[in-house]
This record gives sequence, structure tokens and C-alpha cells, in this order.
Amino acid sequence: MTERYLLPCRCGQTVPVERGQAGQTVHCRCGGSLEVPTLLAMARLEPELRQQGESEAGQPWGVWQGMAVAGLVVCGIAAALAGYLAWTWPPPPLSKYNYANQRAWIAERKPAESLEIFLQMRREGLAPLHPAVAAGYAAARFHYQLGAASVALLAAAGVALALAGFSRAVRVRAAAGPRRPSR
Ligand SMILES: [Zn+2]
Repeated sequence: MTERYLLPCRCGQTVPVERGQAGQTVHCRCGGSLEVPTLLAMARLEPELRQQGESEAGQPWGVWQGMAVAGLVVCGIAAALAGYLAWTWPPPPLSKYNYANQRAWIAERKPAESLEIFLQMRREGLAPLHPAVAAGYAAARFHYQLGAASVALLAAAGVALALAGFSRAVRVRAAAGPRRPSR
């Protein structure tokens, strides 16, 4: 922790200065430039109550908090995408014997023919998928798996970002908290 002192300006505001800045020129928020006194004279200035951790906490708390929030937003986007993928995940294609669009064909079959088909299906199981249908399904599934992997990566990045942001924010705040000299 670097001890800082409050250098008063003509405008009534103060500029926090460190020992290392003795003899240098600093600028006030009003635009005026102030000369930092020597170490001896600086020691007579009012010490800054907020020490380094806390003065850092002002901005970095916001930065880390923003990072955590951004991580949560990324997680939310990943969750929405995962929901979309799950909702639209291509269902396995039906066997060529029970396509909905073959109802007409099935309706046309004579009872004896239907029984023969039924018995054949019982014997041999459902016929294998038509190669084009199988290939189309495999391609669609591959795209969805690729999408799922991307969403998982996105979610992992979001979780990492949120955790990093939260832990840094909490650490900065903890470092700043107890070091407030009472006056
Ligand atoms: Zn000023």
C-alpha cells in the first residue's frame, strides 16, 4: 500500500499524490496544474483516507463486475442457443415403411399384401434407411453436433469469464474493505 496525500488545489478540490511524485507537476480535475511539494512538506498534507486498494476498487470493481456480467450474458446466450438446438434437433428419420407420405401407398395395399409386408417386417425388422435419407440425416446431425460443441465452448467461456470477474471483484473489494484508517 502506498501512502497518498491530498494536495489541495485553488479550486477547492484535492489531488491525491504519492511520495514518488515529490517535485513533479500534477493536474487537477479543474485543469489547473499543481506542483507536488517535497517529501517533508508532503508529510504535513492530509493523508488520503482511501488507500490504494480502495482507490483501485473504484474503477476495477466496475471493470471486474462488468466482466462477470458479460460472462453471465454469454452464458445466457449459450443457454438460449442450446435450447434452440435441443428444440430443433433433427429427429431420426423413419423407416421407409412408415413415412407419413406413404400412407396413401399403404392404404392402396390389399389386406393380403399388407399382411405379407407385416410378416416380412416382423421377420427381418425394419428395412434399412434409404442411403440418401441416411446421408441427409447424418449430415444434419453432424451440423447440430458441431453447433452443440460451439455452444458448449461458448458456455465454458462465459462461465470462465463470469468466475474470473466475480473472483477478482470480490478480491479487490476484500482488499479495500478493512484498510480504512480511522481518524
Ligand atoms: Zn483544481
